Amino acid sequence: MRRMTVTMLGLLFLVAQCRAEKAPPLRESYPPRQVAEGVWVIHGPLGVPSPRNQGFMNNPAFVLTDAGVVVIDPGSSVQVGETVLGEIRKVTSKPVVAVFDTHVHGDHWLGNQAIADAFPDARIYAHPKMIERVARGAGEEWLEVMRKLTKGATDGTRVVPPTVAVRDGDEIDIGGVRFRILHDGKAHTDTDIMLLLPRKSVIFLGDNAGNGRMLRMNDGSFRGNIRALDRALASGAKVFVPGHGLSGGAEVAAGYRDYLRTLYEGVKALYDEDLSDFEMKPKLLPKLAHWKKWVDFDSLVGSHVSLAYLEVEAEAF
Ligand SMILES: [Zn+2]
Repeated sequence: MRRMTVTMLGLLFLVAQCRAEKAPPLRESYPPRQVAEGVWVIHGPLGVPSPRNQGFMNNPAFVLTDAGVVVIDPGSSVQVGETVLGEIRKVTSKPVVAVFDTHVHGDHWLGNQAIADAFPDARIYAHPKMIERVARGAGEEWLEVMRKLTKGATDGTRVVPPTVAVRDGDEIDIGGVRFRILHDGKAHTDTDIMLLLPRKSVIFLGDNAGNGRMLRMNDGSFRGNIRALDRALASGAKVFVPGHGLSGGAEVAAGYRDYLRTLYEGVKALYDEDLSDFEMKPKLLPKLAHWKKWVDFDSLVGSHVSLAYLEVEAEAF
């Protein structure tokens, strides 16, 4: 019996070792683009995590300050985080001193591990609701999602949670660069922070906006997301960095907001006519034609209509 237990333990250990084995680094290189002085964005490929993109599909960014480098959303895995560090190394030899995670979705922050391994003193900031979710296991759930979607390309990644809470209105000065936090209740999720760099006129929108790619709204609120983007548009920023897709000017935030608003207002009008959600989609598609070429439009528009329907219904009561 004892021998069997030892053998079983040995086997379990082996299984754990196999699962923990680290998958190879990213095959492709993704050069960063400078969007403002000292502000760089690595625009990831569009689409959902897959074996082909090895799970990399968000927009990690880094900001150079006098105190060191600040990373925003280091990506979905240790592999992506290491790629981000490699790109930072080409620009500066300064250490990474801080990380901001824009929200709880794992494609944005599981790369924390790579930063923490290389720079254990770097502070990792997030909204308190995100810190709470991760403490309750959201990170492990996301590890599993990434592993399945990429067929193991993110293996070797472990959860390194954010630990420093930031709230709406907080201003954090790092090496002469100011980061202002914007959080507007539930938007894309209830954990989102947007980061405004007032002196650089740059705003990081997180997944409150995609550009050329639709985003899931399952954890979000249409009205809250529209409100957050209105606020971003009124912030004085000139450069808008979305969670997915290319950075640009105000049109990045306005384009996604207009999609959400057209869809939500459309659902609301049809709700008042007593239509059910499946009857609404064909009536709404012509109004949404402007966005129909966006990546994942076809796979997400149906769920967006259903989710907006539920929100309109909740609002009506
Ligand atoms: Zn997201």
